[in-house]
Amino acid sequence: MTRTVYVNGEYLPETEAKVSIFDRAFLMADGVYEVTSVLGGKLIDFDGHAKRLQRSLTELEMPAPCTMDVLLEIHRKLVKINEIDEGMVYLQVTRGAPDDRDFVFPDPETTKPTLVLFTQNKPGLADSPVAKKGIKVISIEDVRWGRRDIKTVQLLYPSMGKMMAKKAGCDDAWMVEDGFVTEGTSNNAYFIKGNKIVTRALSNDILHGITRAAVLRFAKEAQMEVEERNFTIAEAQEADEAFITSASTFVMPVVEIDGVALGDGTPGARALRLREIYLDESRKVAI
Ligand code: PMP
Repeated sequence: MTRTVYVNGEYLPETEAKVSIFDRAFLMADGVYEVTSVLGGKLIDFDGHAKRLQRSLTELEMPAPCTMDVLLEIHRKLVKINEIDEGMVYLQVTRGAPDDRDFVFPDPETTKPTLVLFTQNKPGLADSPVAKKGIKVISIEDVRWGRRDIKTVQLLYPSMGKMMAKKAGCDDAWMVEDGFVTEGTSNNAYFIKGNKIVTRALSNDILHGITRAAVLRFAKEAQMEVEERNFTIAEAQEADEAFITSASTFVMPVVEIDGVALGDGTPGARALRLREIYLDESRKVAI
């Protein structure tokens, strides 16, 4: 089926959607994005994603293309037109397309931001067979820039990281800086030891995951202890369980880190329970 996508005010078949070759995101990765999941035809945690988008825009002095209410309407309309029951909505805002290539930011009065949204249909996203098996991760050096808290489209290194994992027969990579795990290539990273969940604290070093915020809240409500601090790969390898979180994977158990199996090498009970709670609670408040 040809998707209907949104580009700068228009709903178009994907084959007709176009962006200028001078667009700043194409030339300089000068763009930010959000991915919001859809379950039962409804948006999960839209408010969190809208707030983080606004923060990314502000940090980069990039004008917002429209209000967050209008963005919500566009999300809903695309979900409806494309008949998405389970999947994602991808949104990207760029600093727009000036008349020519130039490192200097264009005048926001004359160069308007580019706004693109499209849906990704993923039937069975919640009932993922991968979550039943768990994923294997490798560790790689984190060589990304210093503002990972801004959700930019500079995804070349994360993409290379996924390829390194694939070549190693694994599913993903955890990035390590100065000996400590920052996060996964496209997710936040955690381990569980006893009743305690450990994950890196928020800073400019990692993306402030919307799923992370929700999962840590649910974990505390379920009387689990949460410790936000630096940790090493060795510490995670000795843990009872590990998992990752992101808008598109929810809570995904990790069963192996750099070839070392965690526990009995199957998804941990607590990670699976957190996945269940996250899905249940998120569905209740989806819009
Ligand atoms: N860290 C990185 C580097 C990411 O790319 C993502 C997903 N975009 C996350 C964490 C998870 O964030 P969220 O839960 O908001 O999807």
